[in-house]
Amino acid sequence: MIQDIFVKLKTLQDILSSKYEIEREIQEIPKALSTKKEMLTRLKKSYLEKNSLLEEAKDRIKHLKFLLDEVEAQREMYEKQMDVITTQREYEALDKEIKTATERGQQFRKDIIREEKERDEIVFSLEQEEKMIHEQETELEEELEKIKNESAKKEDLLKELEEKESEIVPGLDEDILFKFERIIKNKSGLGIVPVKNSVCTGCHMMLPAQFENNVRKRDEIMFCPYCSRILYYEEEMDEAVFNDEDSGSLADLVNADEINFDI
Ligand SMILES: [Zn+2]
Repeated sequence: MIQDIFVKLKTLQDILSSKYEIEREIQEIPKALSTKKEMLTRLKKSYLEKNSLLEEAKDRIKHLKFLLDEVEAQREMYEKQMDVITTQREYEALDKEIKTATERGQQFRKDIIREEKERDEIVFSLEQEEKMIHEQETELEEELEKIKNESAKKEDLLKELEEKESEIVPGLDEDILFKFERIIKNKSGLGIVPVKNSVCTGCHMMLPAQFENNVRKRDEIMFCPYCSRILYYEEEMDEAVFNDEDSGSLADLVNADEINFDI
């Protein structure tokens, strides 16, 4: 009788652990998508910010070039004036203006080179980000398509599993069922495990001798006191082999001992 329950529970265990896994996967779908969507939003925001930095850099270069043209035109004008001056004082004043204009021109050129370098760096990183945005968009589209297909499949599978579950569940004690479902949900899919060598194979804890005896008796469903899994007794492999091959001689030995003891 209890053996039948164990068989049912083991079948139910397989059904439930698949069911819970599919349910988890279905729940994870929107999370996986929202992570990707958030990343895309961040990338686009950063792209826009960099793009306005690029516009600012371009404006600064334009302005510097304008200043450079202006100062060069001034210098040329002064140089032309050199041809028509008459006094030493005029020469010195003009020479000073030319030097100043030349120095300012050199400074503008340096600034332009620096700004152009910065602009090129922004352009490069914009190209990289554009590529990444494109990749992320493609991935997101593919993911959406995949999810649409997979969700439909998963829902179908879930229905199948629920049908199988409803075939097995009738007749099982509701309390046991409730505990069993919770254990499977919490303990990575295993709700019923064998006791081997006095150890619960679910949590690997040594069970008290009296408790183990009760499991062996199969009078009632026993839950592991440490991990709450349902336990059933499984003969040790060694013992099983031993019993099959040498049960006769062992029985003889024990009997002989008992007889000797009694005498
Ligand atoms: Zn246990």
